[in-house]
Parts: sequence; structure tokens; C-alpha cells
Amino acid sequence: MRLVWFCLLAGVLPGGSETRGATFAPITLYTQFQQAPPAAVLDAIQDEVESIMAPIGIRFEWRDLSQTEGHEVSTELAVVTFKGRCDATGVVAHSKSEGALGWTHVSDGQILPFTDVSCDRVREFVQAGLMLFRAEERAARYGRALGRVLAHELYHIFANTARHATFGVAKESYSVQDLLSDEFQFQARESRMLQVSRPRAAAEVVPGSM
Ligand SMILES: [Zn+2]
Repeated sequence: MRLVWFCLLAGVLPGGSETRGATFAPITLYTQFQQAPPAAVLDAIQDEVESIMAPIGIRFEWRDLSQTEGHEVSTELAVVTFKGRCDATGVVAHSKSEGALGWTHVSDGQILPFTDVSCDRVREFVQAGLMLFRAEERAARYGRALGRVLAHELYHIFANTARHATFGVAKESYSVQDLLSDEFQFQARESRMLQVSRPRAAAEVVPGSM
């Protein structure tokens, strides 16, 4: 059943260069932080999610949930809660790994557009690696790691799947190297899943490209 579903949608989309050039309608991301993050961390989170998703054609509009007036209408959205303390200060040379870095809510087998990222767990996991960078670089490196965890969760929501890939942003568990390396992207298959699971937006793009 799942295979049929993917094949049907793959047939609807334009192929080749048209798909690569397509830009889907932006998705609204509502964010909330338990503690306000430094600007350098927030900027790095947003930059990293954009740089992972933009090559796929997916764009986001970022909104602060606490500043939202309640009558906004978005066709596609997700609500992201950053738990704990989202800054890179106070790191020590001993990393630890306890529990999930991020998680997306599921109800009766349905993936819901609500996701949480644990700032504390991400920091504790990468902190020994962060200490190898100069202090003024750490906020940006840490924010980028948070952005990668968020991109992973957004993959579950917008590809509408609980499945994982073998490599890249959609793989099941990350190493410190994955979170701190210079380059980290989705593989082609998961990029395609993100594109084909968005038929409404794709339908809007096709007529304009002809
Ligand atoms: Zn996952």
C-alpha cells in the first residue's frame, strides 16, 4: 500500500530539472523556547534548517509562538518547542548521551506537526567536541547542531513517515561528528520523499512552470 502511494505521487510531479527548480509554498514554523536563546544560536538554527531544506525546494517562515495573535491561517505548519537551556556556555570536556535529542508527536499512528528538541541533551552530547572550537565559534556550531536535529524531525512531519535512512539527516541516530561536521544533508531518496509528500504545493508550482 505504501509503495503504491509513493509511486502515484511520484508520477504526478514534473521530473528532472523542473523538480529541482520547483519551490514549494513556504511552511510556517512556530517556535517556542523554554529559555530565550542567544541570537547567534537562533540564527544558526534557522540558517542550518534553511541550508538543508532549500536545495529540496522547501522554505520556511519562522514565527515566535509567543508573538502570534491566534487568527493566522497557514496551510502547512509545525510547532517546535526547544526544551531546556539553548546556549553553548558552561560546556565541559566530557560528553554524555542520555535519551532522545529530538522527538515528534504521534497519535494513533498519525504523525502530528508538533516536535520537541532537547537543547540540554544536544549540548551534553556534543560539548566535548564543541570545546575543540574557539569560545566565540561555539554558539554557531551548537546552533547548527540543533538545526540538524530539527531538520530530522521536520523530515518525519513533512515526509509523513516514521522511517529512517541509512545515511544523512534522516538516519536514526547521530554521531557527534554528524552534528559538528561542516556538511550534513539528506540523501536523494529522502529529499524526494519530502517533495512528493507535498502534492498541494506541487500542484501550485506546476502550472506556473509551463
Ligand atoms: Zn527520527
